Amino acid sequence: MHQKPPIVKDHFNKAKDIYLDYAATTPAHTLVLAAFKRAAIKYYGNPNSAHALGLKAANEITKSLRRIRLLLGLPSHYELIPTSGATESNNLALKGIALQYGKFGKTIITTAFEHPSVIASANYLAKQGFNVKIAPSNQWGRVDINELEKLIDDDTILVSVGSINSEIGIRQPIAAIKTMLRQHPKVFFHVDATQSIGKENIDLNGVDLISMAAHKFYGLKGVGLLIKSKRTQLTPIIHGGHSTTLIRRGTPTTELIVSMEKALRIAMINFNENNQNVININRYIREKLNCIKDIIINSTPEDLPYILNISILGKESRSTIKYMSDHGIYISNHTACDSETNTSITILTLTGDKKRADSSVRLSFSYLTTIDEIDRFITILKEYIA
Ligand code: PLP
Repeated sequence: MHQKPPIVKDHFNKAKDIYLDYAATTPAHTLVLAAFKRAAIKYYGNPNSAHALGLKAANEITKSLRRIRLLLGLPSHYELIPTSGATESNNLALKGIALQYGKFGKTIITTAFEHPSVIASANYLAKQGFNVKIAPSNQWGRVDINELEKLIDDDTILVSVGSINSEIGIRQPIAAIKTMLRQHPKVFFHVDATQSIGKENIDLNGVDLISMAAHKFYGLKGVGLLIKSKRTQLTPIIHGGHSTTLIRRGTPTTELIVSMEKALRIAMINFNENNQNVININRYIREKLNCIKDIIINSTPEDLPYILNISILGKESRSTIKYMSDHGIYISNHTACDSETNTSITILTLTGDKKRADSSVRLSFSYLTTIDEIDRFITILKEYIA
């Protein structure tokens, strides 16, 4: 059953515009919108209410979360905490662990390639007296397991590594880190899997905390999850009244949670086909870009094929984005959450080359991306460079 959705033309003029910013967000699938609408009408009761309508809504949430857990291949001891998205999930993971286990240790280890929501949470904790260490990585940004292990000591409470870096698509060796951390059972392992879910097969069983957001896989904005293993205790960062969710108080968003399950199910059903399309697109655009002078491809073929970071030497990234946008092509520089400056800290950290960092832009693909769109993008790019 392949459900190719007529979604994009609902959002902008697909015939003219070329959306190449799917890593920032994706247009919601029509079936996701239908699931949202159905749940909003049918299960409008407050899941925290004690009456039958409330219980019906709460039951629907429980069923959806269970199915999401199964779709992700996680055993029943994992608890799924609905959040407003991956930024909140990452905040809750880092701060929740720090508050809970800070009396046993103050060291948190992360990487230089995390999303700003991880970096900013870590920086906040550093100001509160925590010790934040950055794990060394190789020339492609992949964490060196041995070096990471050397950083772990009795004071370490958390290792937080994003499975896929959102700017370049760097894949981190999550399985190997998981195996290594078995020798350090007191250390919790958080994976920001926001750019992985629906795009790559990743075994997250054994990870203590997992962050994700529905809008990265054709779900709606405003809903995500922090998934935690049974052994992991978190101190809440959002407090409130009586709620079915103890760690994150407030009225749970039944329709958003139900729609997230739908989005994940569709992404999983079409996984192989979607992936193959993106692999083909990635290969095709690399061939075209390799023929253009002044372009450096920053993503390696080992990185996630959904993301391709390039530098257009001599062109500042914000000017490139503006020019492309004026021509109906939507791309981005570093992350959408932090696009005010030209300089990509990620590229600068990896290459030490300021010119390359200032001129880097991210293209990100979907199963909806076509060869024709890539051809039109390349034509405009050549005009721009000329
Ligand atoms: N983590 C990663 C790796 C991301 O790519 C993003 C969004 O770009 C986030 C976290 C934040 O997600 P949200 O927009 O749902 O807060």
